[in-house]
Amino acid sequence: MVRKLQAQGVSHPAVLAAMGAVERHRFVDTALVNQAYEDTSLPIGLGQTISKPNVVARMIELLCEGRTEKLGRVLEIGTGCGYQAAVLSQVSREVYSMERLRGLHEKARENVRGLRLANLHLLFGDGMLGFAQGAPYAAIIAAAGGEAIPQAWIDQLAVGGRLVAPAVTGVGQQHLVVIDKTATGVKKTVLEPVLFVPLKSGVA
Ligand code: SAH
Repeated sequence: MVRKLQAQGVSHPAVLAAMGAVERHRFVDTALVNQAYEDTSLPIGLGQTISKPNVVARMIELLCEGRTEKLGRVLEIGTGCGYQAAVLSQVSREVYSMERLRGLHEKARENVRGLRLANLHLLFGDGMLGFAQGAPYAAIIAAAGGEAIPQAWIDQLAVGGRLVAPAVTGVGQQHLVVIDKTATGVKKTVLEPVLFVPLKSGVA
């Protein structure tokens, strides 16, 4: 899988090491284990999916761009099965990951138990509000896409921090959006089209 990611253009050494360190098969149902290292999204229950390895690596690489040291505190919205959160924990000092569906939050807890990721904190709640207690964040990453990037995320991003999220842009299609926060304001960059599950408010 790591060689395939490299061939697809992923080159950051820490990101490749993290993708190699976290076993993706631990995060999918037994019936799908033989597809765990394919470059495909897979169902994880409750209508949600584990993102493609290539998308996980691409987004984390964007967060790590130009850095050789670990990221500081990171907020993830949409824990799902916990796979991306586990990868993030390898390249960050602290990770807070929020999930709005209790069933998946619990599944993720089970999946990461035994991996001894002391810096990974799984939280049950509505990630559209962010998680103010952990702010400011060096990086924010969302695994679900809405119409716009919630203002709470931008507020909770540190100056010098970066946010990567799918969002519907002008043309009515989801694109990967990067927001860099500087002392003078925020800079938004729209990248390639993507397909993520919807960002929803409230918990269930
Ligand atoms: N990174 C995950 C991908 C899960 S799919 C993984 O590696 O498996 C995206 C997840 O975002 C879904 O589980 C969905 O329930 C969750 N989600 C959607 N809106 C949310 C919100 N407002 N707060 C927290 N989680 C949300």
